Amino acid sequence: MREIIIIGSGPAGFTAAIYAARAGLKPLLLASSVEAGGELMNTTEVENFPGFPEGIQGPELMIKLQEQAEKFGTEVILDDVTAVHLSGDVKSVETGYSGTFEARSVIFATGSAYRKLGIHDEERLSGRGVSWCATCDGFFFKTKTIAVVGGGDSAMEEATFLTRFAEKVYVVHRKDTLRASKIMQERAFTNEKIEFVWNSEVVGIAGENAVEGLSLRNTVDGSESELPVQGLFVAIGNDPRVHLVHGQLELTAEGTIAVDGRSSKTNLPGVFAAGDVIDPHYRQAVTAAASGTVAALDAEQFLAALDQAAAEAAETLVSAS
Ligand code: NDP
Repeated sequence: MREIIIIGSGPAGFTAAIYAARAGLKPLLLASSVEAGGELMNTTEVENFPGFPEGIQGPELMIKLQEQAEKFGTEVILDDVTAVHLSGDVKSVETGYSGTFEARSVIFATGSAYRKLGIHDEERLSGRGVSWCATCDGFFFKTKTIAVVGGGDSAMEEATFLTRFAEKVYVVHRKDTLRASKIMQERAFTNEKIEFVWNSEVVGIAGENAVEGLSLRNTVDGSESELPVQGLFVAIGNDPRVHLVHGQLELTAEGTIAVDGRSSKTNLPGVFAAGDVIDPHYRQAVTAAASGTVAALDAEQFLAALDQAAAEAAETLVSAS
């Protein structure tokens, strides 16, 4: 049986692994089979991770974090976790291909998943013009006209990045002000290829085998219009990935895993959570990494307390015999 299993391979998971490995706990980190590295794998330049004044590419940062975790003895397996059993002293984690693993403690660092618009045709045209990842799919939209939905940092980042390929990028936002940070807003506002479509929501996507246009509804006066585009990038935020723990761990009203105060402790002993899966507000690579640190330290203390209790019980037994 292992000491600690970490589920998730974003900044929270790998930072937890670095700390746990340096504490001699030989962690097993289960990274997804297709999404290993988490969201930063889909990011271009990361300009706000301390220590990189020139910026660093998201995938490069993740490779470095993995190298650092492995250097201290983390075992990384690329496989999907399909089920977890968390209530007993021995936690078990089932995977798609690598079998079932057992540990005395588990850290959930499963991050969050792209939010969907939830409209008809979004799924049908997924991969046929509808995308959630500009860095993955932007290349396919050379000289095309496309739309990005959303008003946060993600939408601004995606729109700005997509101007490298597309001839024109509409940003469709349901309000007339952006949620994005000032610097990201400015970058988008000054980009000649970007045009904002304010107070508008996407209510339909036209096209049989590929995106041909969007049906928009004005959120102020309810009027409808058509926007001819060949691509739609959805950048409207993320939802925490908690499907594995439904019915086992307590969740917050916002849908994140509930933890005790500033700690990573869930409602079950030996089960900890870190990163975007517990954080509906800040959701930065740096805050996720810090949260991973907290989880590793909490798990370390939990395991030490178990060892201490076991040693004391053994001593009592010896002195009684
Ligand atoms: P946010 O939650 O910040 O923004 C989501 C945007 O999508 C909002 O403008 C919201 O509109 C809009 N939206 C939400 N749901 C819908 C819907 N159903 N239909 C239409 N529009 C919708 O998410 P982000 O992914 O942009 O950012 C998340 C976090 O990650 C933030 O903390 C951000 O700062 C950070 N981030 C940082 C980056 C960087 O620094 N390089 C890059 C990307 C993200 P409304 O405003 O009306 O609520």
